[in-house]
Amino acid sequence: MKMTTFCNVCMREARFKNFEFISTDFNDEGVYKLICSRNHQSTIIIQDEKFEVLFDIGSLALLNGYTIQAVASIAASVERFHEFCIKVFLEHNGTDSSEVETAWKQLKNSSERQLGAFHVMYLNEFKKAPTIMKQNCVAFRNKVIHKGYIPTYSETKEYIKEMFYYIQSILQEVNPRYQISYVKLALERQQDLAEKFNIRYDSTISMNSQMICLAREPIDLKKDTFENRFELLNTVNTIQYRHQLQSDT
Ligand SMILES: [Zn+2]
Repeated sequence: MKMTTFCNVCMREARFKNFEFISTDFNDEGVYKLICSRNHQSTIIIQDEKFEVLFDIGSLALLNGYTIQAVASIAASVERFHEFCIKVFLEHNGTDSSEVETAWKQLKNSSERQLGAFHVMYLNEFKKAPTIMKQNCVAFRNKVIHKGYIPTYSETKEYIKEMFYYIQSILQEVNPRYQISYVKLALERQQDLAEKFNIRYDSTISMNSQMICLAREPIDLKKDTFENRFELLNTVNTIQYRHQLQSDT
């Protein structure tokens, strides 16, 4: 299972005439060194947040038949989404990032603590309780992750669909009000990565996520449904698979 992106140098030189997909393994940092068939070498930093990337990985896992891996990735995505919201709320309120990191050390190994922090902070920001995750989804996730239950394709797809609407329903509230804060945090992260990896001037920032993409949200959930997004990801996955076959021959 690989991430599909494209050569930015080809794009810059000839726009869509030379459009070429490149497949590469996912990594944790979101920094990718690419080389296309025209020998263009470039480095890209993925702008997407960890929860967006994990949601795509989980959905791709299901499309490729790996149901347990899909559930694990989607569950991780939801946890990172809670972290994302907490840090955005704190940034919005002017909390110094070094203080946030110090406090986060007490929460980072406990998803329950993070969920509690998210609920209280959301309550404080919006003066109402956040959307609650359905209890059957929590039970399903625990059965798969902790008891080794092997879910079917349709059970897994239903879980991903529920988690898609859980995240989207919260983003409908968070996105318009906190856009400046999360863009600021994203730019700081990208700057840190550019320094850490000593990335050259020709590096570009790229968006890749298909299922949940902050740059496109909030969406009209009546028109832009889970099924639409899943189908889009399936199309990208098929293109990537064909490209992989061509590269291997
Ligand atoms: Zn190229």
